[in-house]
Amino acid sequence: MAEDVKKVVIIGSGPAGHTAAIYAARANMEPFMYEGYVVGGSAGGQLTTTTDVENYPGFPEGIGGPELMQLFRKQAARFGTEMVAEDVHEVDFSSRPFRIKGDKTEVLAHSVIISTGATARRMGVPSEEKLWNNGMSACAVCDGALPFFRNKPLAVIGGGDTAVEEASYLTKFGTVVYMIHRRDQLRASKIMQERALNNEKITILWDTVLEDAVGDEFVTGARLKNIKTNETHEIEVAGIFYAIGHTPNTQPFKGQIDLDDSGYIIVHPGTQATNVAGVFAAGDVHDHKYRQAVTAAGTGCAASLEAERWLSEQGIE
Ligand code: NDP
Repeated sequence: MAEDVKKVVIIGSGPAGHTAAIYAARANMEPFMYEGYVVGGSAGGQLTTTTDVENYPGFPEGIGGPELMQLFRKQAARFGTEMVAEDVHEVDFSSRPFRIKGDKTEVLAHSVIISTGATARRMGVPSEEKLWNNGMSACAVCDGALPFFRNKPLAVIGGGDTAVEEASYLTKFGTVVYMIHRRDQLRASKIMQERALNNEKITILWDTVLEDAVGDEFVTGARLKNIKTNETHEIEVAGIFYAIGHTPNTQPFKGQIDLDDSGYIIVHPGTQATNVAGVFAAGDVHDHKYRQAVTAAGTGCAASLEAERWLSEQGIE
């Protein structure tokens, strides 16, 4: 008996993956989704590790991240998406149909949409487990506007473009925003550096690293160390935001499709197509610039429409 070949396999179940699934299912592409399990945090992606989402359109009062992802999932399931709670560890895109191996299953696919996201890097300071989401976050744009950060001093860790962007954003809410950077020079682009240096609400603490967050139930401060003098001191802050980069979840795709130097999937400009015909990418796994749920959902939709067109060009109905 001939092996069953899926029309489209979607890898990843964040906003990009589920939006791709909703569109694919409604277009009779009978999508099969690897939801992910451990890699990338959990099924549902980064939103499942955040609290209130206030910038996803359609929810004027805001919505909890896990709750929002449950709704995405329900909508994808309603139109018949087949889902398995497994991580993908290996793919073979060198011959057709493509082969995808999960924890337990192995499937063949005519087309693939990769939406495995990225994982925000953490520092692993001792109190991180306890205070994560209780004043510690890796996304100022997601969490910065929450009431408990208003009119309080805040801290951003990192010296890249994201750190400057997040620090600038947080100045809308905090009394002062400390940028804590381990060197004496920012990594951020010139224009972003100027933005940080010219913002009177941003104070850059050079040559400084975070030793630990301070607080019992909620962040009340940060213990810092100057790496040139080895002196430590504490500052009072209500929030600590990591901006030390993200790692795209592309381990299984190395050597199979083109990735950039940081490991992000490269798509043809203006499309979601990778260098392998029939393989598409959506969401944070190819986007280190916007990284928002709504932009991920948008590219998930686009990837599905492109996969549908591609399948029909191949005569696969
Ligand atoms: P980057 O890798 O550029 O910067 C990470 C920063 O975190 C660096 O300053 C780095 O320090 C610091 N860092 C890394 N690890 C640690 C650690 N363990 N302890 C302390 N500090 C640490 O990441 P970004 O997210 O800022 O940017 C990623 C990409 O996205 C870049 O190409 C950037 O240009 C782009 N981007 C563009 C934007 C825009 O155009 N508006 C907005 C946001 C991102 P060090 O400098 O010493 O290495």
